[in-house]
Amino acid sequence: MTPLTEKVPEKINRLPDLAYNLWWSWNYNARALFKRLDYTLWRSTHHNPVQMLHEISPGRLADAAQDPAFYRHYNKVLMELDREMENGHLWFRTTYPELKNSPIAYFSAEFGLHNSLPIYSGGLGILSGDHAKEASDLGIPLVGIGFMYPQGYFRQRIPSHGWQEAIYEQLDLNQAPIRPMLDDSGQDIKVSVMLGDRPVYARIWNVKAGRVNLYMMDTDVDENDPWNRELSARLYSGDGEVRIRQELMLGVGGVRILRTLNIEPQAWHMNEGHSAFLVLELMRERVAAGATFDEALEQVRRQTIFTTHTPVPAGHDAFPFHMMEQYFSRFWEELGLNRDEFLSLGRHEESWGTAFNMTVLALRTSGLVNGVSKLHGEVSRQMWRSVWPERPLEEVPITHITNGVHLPTWLPSETQNLFNKYLGTEWLSRQDDPTIWERLADIPDAELWNLHYQLKQKLLGFLRERVRRRWVKGSDDPTQVLTSGTLLDPNALTIGFARRFATYKRADLIFADIDRLRRILLNTHMPVQLIFAGKAHPADDPGKMLIQSIYSHAKHNEIGGRVAFIEDYDMHMARYMVQGVDLWLNNPLRPREASGTSGMKAAINGIPNLSVLDGWWAEAYNGANGWAIGDGTVRHDRGSQDWDDANAIYSLLEDEIVPLFYDRDRDDIPRGWVEIMRESIRSSAPQFGTRRMLKEYTSEMYMMVLSELALAQ
Ligand SMILES: *Cc1c(COP(=O)(O)O)cnc(C)c1O
Repeated sequence: MTPLTEKVPEKINRLPDLAYNLWWSWNYNARALFKRLDYTLWRSTHHNPVQMLHEISPGRLADAAQDPAFYRHYNKVLMELDREMENGHLWFRTTYPELKNSPIAYFSAEFGLHNSLPIYSGGLGILSGDHAKEASDLGIPLVGIGFMYPQGYFRQRIPSHGWQEAIYEQLDLNQAPIRPMLDDSGQDIKVSVMLGDRPVYARIWNVKAGRVNLYMMDTDVDENDPWNRELSARLYSGDGEVRIRQELMLGVGGVRILRTLNIEPQAWHMNEGHSAFLVLELMRERVAAGATFDEALEQVRRQTIFTTHTPVPAGHDAFPFHMMEQYFSRFWEELGLNRDEFLSLGRHEESWGTAFNMTVLALRTSGLVNGVSKLHGEVSRQMWRSVWPERPLEEVPITHITNGVHLPTWLPSETQNLFNKYLGTEWLSRQDDPTIWERLADIPDAELWNLHYQLKQKLLGFLRERVRRRWVKGSDDPTQVLTSGTLLDPNALTIGFARRFATYKRADLIFADIDRLRRILLNTHMPVQLIFAGKAHPADDPGKMLIQSIYSHAKHNEIGGRVAFIEDYDMHMARYMVQGVDLWLNNPLRPREASGTSGMKAAINGIPNLSVLDGWWAEAYNGANGWAIGDGTVRHDRGSQDWDDANAIYSLLEDEIVPLFYDRDRDDIPRGWVEIMRESIRSSAPQFGTRRMLKEYTSEMYMMVLSELALAQ
């Protein structure tokens, strides 16, 4: 392969720099530049500029360099990038000028930055990706640590029997927007961690998200035996043994990466408990330097922040003691602890016995802890009060910072342009100021509605084109063509439901009374249709059964082509969905949805939510920006909870939602509906963006640690 630096003409020789910084993924001028360069390649590479530059013909590059319009566009984008990277003007520097040299290390098992890096499985990863991007936008000195899984998460196929199949594809690391970290002699920089009696090595990939650097481990290196080369191959696929080894790499290896690169974090943020072993490594370093264990613990606590993400017990990793002994018997000696003292750091009663729980370890060793919505904060205090048996419930030191979504990632350029026109060009830089969004009132109904209609047609076109291509390849059962969106009506009220198929999310709830649902869907004058998408974890058979059940409805002609199941949900499809459906449905079993973020993505796009009052929606619902399923009452009998919630959905659809959507004036505009769309954006954009979220993390967490103010415990 010719190095890109040699291939790209001098005049536009910074294109590779741009391609290797995922900043382009949330700047629509930069995306437009690559589209302009070669639209066919942009599409065939699935929006991967690095691969584009490798595949593009030298002739096309030469033409672009000579084209004055391209060159102007190129200069404009690079100037914007340079200004961004300089960052002296950014919020963090101007608000906290005294703190500029204090990096925050942010550890996460997955990062959902862009589709060209499929190293995420769902909400947790998207949140980490959005967190990193917003940190860049605000100039917060964040450094990310994670894994570069070469096979990522799986790609989903649904054959005509409806039972999900998982396909693993090898990512071509040389054509991804990542670069290996090399030493002065051009060799890979590596770190090693003792896993049991053997060191396991990882090389490091650098991912740039604007100003933020992420360092991702990959154990596929010569020094490792085949089993360990595979260790970081896939996200969340392994058994407990693979999992503890991955988590040791993430936590302990992650600290060593930063030490090797001479990065000295002042704060350590664990995004979920997967990385919690990092505190053991930090304590080990301090004990080795002469501290007692108690001193080390106290020092580490002053620097660590932990965000917990789920009220579902099985979502918290726990390892049996014999496994802990296998990997840590040397480690506890280095901490100056005996076996029992060590194990008590994570001791917890699981449904299957006493074990070492990663969340408990993180709770005991972090100075600041938060849940991801107000309700989730309350639930987490209940859930973990046993860790502080001497304290009353309200004093359990777990607070909350509600999640958010990164606006420029989730708003399409069409909508950003509309906002530029009516909200003023500063709307993005002042996005957390509610007064900016009052100006939405100036957008004429017709303009908001027509934009939405256009984005809806884009979604339906996207679905048709996907299935058309697969069908042309000839590998498919024709049923696939019918269930994947080709029968959808461009004018029918379209409800979207897309997320991981975890059972508590109750994807099939709306089918509880199939006759009543059919009457709603098949109404001749006011038809309704449903688009489903989502993956079940490969080991989650109940989740796969939900997919199969929905798929069988989609296939059934009695449902009239009004239900589609779109396979292989990912960030790319999520963008089309949250921008193009009419209504976003979310019906988890309260209170198990810690926050939920797909509904926020829909809301900022003016897609009203129809949701259970769980997670973020319990905070966001205001009576005018969408609909609430039920009133938040929790029943102890699952069957009647499901039945009540399903009936609440039907009644809302029949009595309010469907009539409002079809209530058109002479210009065929649903005025009442457009009001709800507008209120959805107005109420959510300033509050449920990562802008507000990162400012809260900074003032309530990072600042406390960076300036060593008194900590909560
Ligand atoms: C936003 C997003 C999620 C998270 O959705 P929830 O509603 O929070 O479950 C999952 N997967 C993808 C691809 C997303 O974009």
